[in-house]
Amino acid sequence: MTPQQVVLTPTALLLDWGDGAVRLTHAALRGACRCSQCESARRQGHPLALSQDVRIVRLEALGHYAVQLVFSDGHDRGIYPWEMLARLSALALQVSAST
Ligand SMILES: [Zn+2]
Repeated sequence: MTPQQVVLTPTALLLDWGDGAVRLTHAALRGACRCSQCESARRQGHPLALSQDVRIVRLEALGHYAVQLVFSDGHDRGIYPWEMLARLSALALQVSAST
């Protein structure tokens, strides 16, 4: 599963899966990082102190299955499979539909 269109804006990543763009903010994506460093911080009960001002500074495609996001706080270990981004998009849609 890959999006038809990916647009990086100053505050969000816009992903179009075929039925309109879904907006995932840079801060939300930073918080969703699944790298070993972030996962172990979570496991130890130290959720990351994340600034809402964190920005994606670079986006690199990793083959057809994922993107690597590099953040303004220097964090560059986050690999985001499209499948995971699709799941985050579905959640974001549910949230926006219920508010
Ligand atoms: Zn991470």
